[in-house]
Amino acid sequence: MSTNEKNPVVVIGAGIVGVCCALYLLREGHRVLLVDKGGPGEGTSFGNGSIVTEEAVVPVQTPGIARKVPGMLADPLSPLAIRWSYLPRIAPWLLHFVRASSPERVEEISIALRQLLRGAMAAYDPLLEAAGIRDMIRRSGWVSVYETEAGFQSYQPKLELQRRRGVKLEVLEAEELRQLEPSLAPIFRRGVFYPDVAQTVNNFRFVQELAATFVRLGGEIGRQAVIGFEQAEGRVTAVVTDAGVIACSGVVIAAGAWSKALTAMLGSKPPLDTERGYHLTLPSPGVELRLPVYSTERGFVCTPLETGLRLAGTVELGGLEAAPNWQRAEVLYRNASRWFPGLDRRDESRWMGYRPSMPDSVPVISRAPHHRNAIFAFGHGHIGLSLGARTGALVNDLFAGRDPGIDMTPYRVDRF
Ligand SMILES: Cc1cc2nc3c(=O)[nH]c(=O)nc-3n(C[C@H](O)[C@H](O)[C@H](O)COP(=O)(O)OP(=O)(O)OC[C@H]3O[C@@H](n4cnc5c(N)ncnc54)[C@H](O)[C@@H]3O)c2cc1C
Repeated sequence: MSTNEKNPVVVIGAGIVGVCCALYLLREGHRVLLVDKGGPGEGTSFGNGSIVTEEAVVPVQTPGIARKVPGMLADPLSPLAIRWSYLPRIAPWLLHFVRASSPERVEEISIALRQLLRGAMAAYDPLLEAAGIRDMIRRSGWVSVYETEAGFQSYQPKLELQRRRGVKLEVLEAEELRQLEPSLAPIFRRGVFYPDVAQTVNNFRFVQELAATFVRLGGEIGRQAVIGFEQAEGRVTAVVTDAGVIACSGVVIAAGAWSKALTAMLGSKPPLDTERGYHLTLPSPGVELRLPVYSTERGFVCTPLETGLRLAGTVELGGLEAAPNWQRAEVLYRNASRWFPGLDRRDESRWMGYRPSMPDSVPVISRAPHHRNAIFAFGHGHIGLSLGARTGALVNDLFAGRDPGIDMTPYRVDRF
C-alpha cells in the first residue's frame, strides 16, 4: 500500500490495539495521526484484567455451550448474564456463536488463535524498549482454580485442546496449589498453573505510556470523534470528524466495540457485538497475591496491580447503550471474598467495559474489501491486551504489502 507522505495514516481508536498499530506504523516511517473521541486507553482498555497471555487458545464458544447457557443464566453467581430486551438485536450474533462451537470449528479456531498468540509477547518487546517500561510486565504465570472435582473434570476437553496446541501447563493437587498461592482459602480441589502467562502491573498506565512514547517519537494524537469518510476510486481520501475533515493517505479502524458503525460506512458489516464485563479494584485488599488467580467456573480473574487487587471478568450481553448493572460487579466480590476471607473493599472503584467480540472469538485483522488503503483491526474480545502489539505488527505488514508470515484468512472481515 503506497502512502502519500504529505497526509498522515489515520488510526481511529486509541485503545491498546490502536496505540500499538500507531506505534508500529510510526516506526515504519509513516506520518501517523491517532484519533479518539476520548483519551488514550479510556475505552475498554482502561479496566481489563491486565493479563498478557499467549495461552488463550480455547474460544469462548466450546462444544455443548448452547446446552449450558440456560443453566448459567439462571444462576445469579454465574459468569454469564443477558439483558433480555437486547436478545432480538444480538440473536444473529448468537447464531454465529453457536455455529462456531462445533468440535471441528473449535479445533480450527484454536489453531487460528494459536498462530496469532504465539509471539504476542515478543511483539511487545520493541515497544516496551522504546517506552522504557519493561518493568511494567511481570512474568509470574497464572493459575486457574477449581472448587470441585466435577468442575475440574468438566474442564478436561479444554485442557486437552490446550495440550494439542502446545500450551505449557501443570496440573496441581490442592496442597501444591496452596504452596503456589498461600493467600487462597483452602476450598480448592485442583489448580492448573500456566507458566508462560504475564501481566502488566497497571494496564491503563501501560496504554498511556505507549501513547506518550508515540507522541515523543513524532506521532500526533487528536481528540475527536470520527463520523464519516470521504472516498474516491477505491481509496479513503479523508476522515471526517466532529472537528473537521482530515485528508489521509490511509486509515486503520481500531475502534474496539464501536468499529462496526465505521466499517459499515466502508461497506462492511461484520457480526461484531459486545460482551460487557465488570471490574472492582480494591486499593487495600488485605491480601497479597503472588500471581494472578483465575476461575474458569466463575469466569473472572484476581490480578495484583500497583493500584491494588483487580477483580475482573464476567460476561453480560446487553449492547453498547444500556446502563451498567452493578449487581454483576457485586458477583465478583461475592465470589472473590470466598477465596480470600476478610477481603477488604474499602475505597474500591468499579467499572464496566465493552469487550469488542466476534462470535467466533477471533479478531478481525484484515484489509478492507472495498478500499485499497484501509485496514480493520478490532474484535479482540477477551484477549485484546494480549494481542495489542501482535496486531500492530500485522497491520503494519499488511500496510507495507509484506507477507506477515502467517495465513491471514481466519481474520478476514468477510469470513462470515
Ligand atoms: C472485564 C474485562 C477483563 C478483561 N481482561 C483482559 C485481560 O486480562 N487480558 C486481555 O488480553 N484482554 C482482556 N480484556 C479484553 C481487552 O480489554 C479488550 O479486548 C481490549 O481492551 C480492546 O482494545 P481495543 O483497543 O480494541 O478497544 P478499546 O480499548 O475500547 O479502544 C477503542 C477506542 O476507540 C475509540 N472510538 C470508538 N469509536 C470512535 C469514533 N467514532 N471516533 C473516535 N474514536 C472512537 C474509543 O473511545 C476507544 O478509546 C478484558 C475485557 C474486559 C471487559
